[in-house]
Amino acid sequence: RDNLIEVQNLKKYFTKTSGLWGKNVQYIKALDDVSFYIKKGETLGLVGESGCGKSTTGRTLIKLYEPTDGKILFDGEDITKYSEKQMLPYRKRMQMVFQDPYASLNSRMTINDIIGEAIETHHIATGKEKNDRIHYLLERVGLMRDHASRYPHEFSGGQRQRVGIARALAVEPEFIICDEPISALDVSIQAQVINMLEDLQNDMGLTYLFIAHDLSMVKHISNRIGVMYLGNLVEIGGSEEINKHPAHPYTKALLSAVPLPDPDLARGKKRIVLEGDVPSPLNPPSGCRFRTRCSECMKICSEVTPTLQEVAPGHQVACHLYSK
Ligand code: SF4
Ligand code: MG
Repeated sequence: RDNLIEVQNLKKYFTKTSGLWGKNVQYIKALDDVSFYIKKGETLGLVGESGCGKSTTGRTLIKLYEPTDGKILFDGEDITKYSEKQMLPYRKRMQMVFQDPYASLNSRMTINDIIGEAIETHHIATGKEKNDRIHYLLERVGLMRDHASRYPHEFSGGQRQRVGIARALAVEPEFIICDEPISALDVSIQAQVINMLEDLQNDMGLTYLFIAHDLSMVKHISNRIGVMYLGNLVEIGGSEEINKHPAHPYTKALLSAVPLPDPDLARGKKRIVLEGDVPSPLNPPSGCRFRTRCSECMKICSEVTPTLQEVAPGHQVACHLYSK
């Protein structure tokens, strides 16, 4: 089997109640009809502005959130309706690395206990074998074995993120969701963490969903990139293809906002400024959700919701400019 992850028409609506006795119920369509796959051993980058549904996608597909509708396949197994108990063996196979490692690490626990807890919860090892494992993991993420007796506050942001990664690796997962793991780190540390994640992936055959708000952050680590806008996946394709031949007006705008280090490349590139704010997911625009900010908006865009269409092999875009 080629795909580790497959999501089909995935939806996640949150309800918001207001008014007297909470009688007004509104739906926040955080994730609305999203489909994609992730092949074994590859990295899918997921980008978009905050609130576009990237984290919701990650959390729903490993069932930290119950999906509202759609289908989730993990290694060919339909886990959409699995109970928490049925999910237990899968919890070990899928892990998450968070944006803020400080918030996700218990400040009263030593690094040894933080990583040890994960190892014990999933019955991976005990006693000396457990301690050997903790030391091995610390070295794998570029820390030292005597860091095990320290507490999270004794570490820098980058080191804490390494601890978070070691904890995720402790249960020998196949799939890791990296939810903006470098966004909070100094620029000088970001590349180190990315390189480390790539090395770990190569050595351990890991599959990643790598979430970021900025295309430049996922460009190098991703095999393929998906672009989200207001709960929809608007474009997906190979990393190089998306960067060189972006098709969706939103992707073009995201890319034009990335400062280009090479002045020759920058020359002649038009900077597209996105006007206005992202509309509320409580009441998204009809038709194409991007239309209120799109400079190429046509009549059909408010009437018909564009669906993903192939514009090049493996490259799909949801925009009426490309509808056949
Ligand atoms: Fe713009 Fe229309 Fe394409 Fe939406 S469908 S991105 S509004 S051109
Ligand atoms: Mg997020």
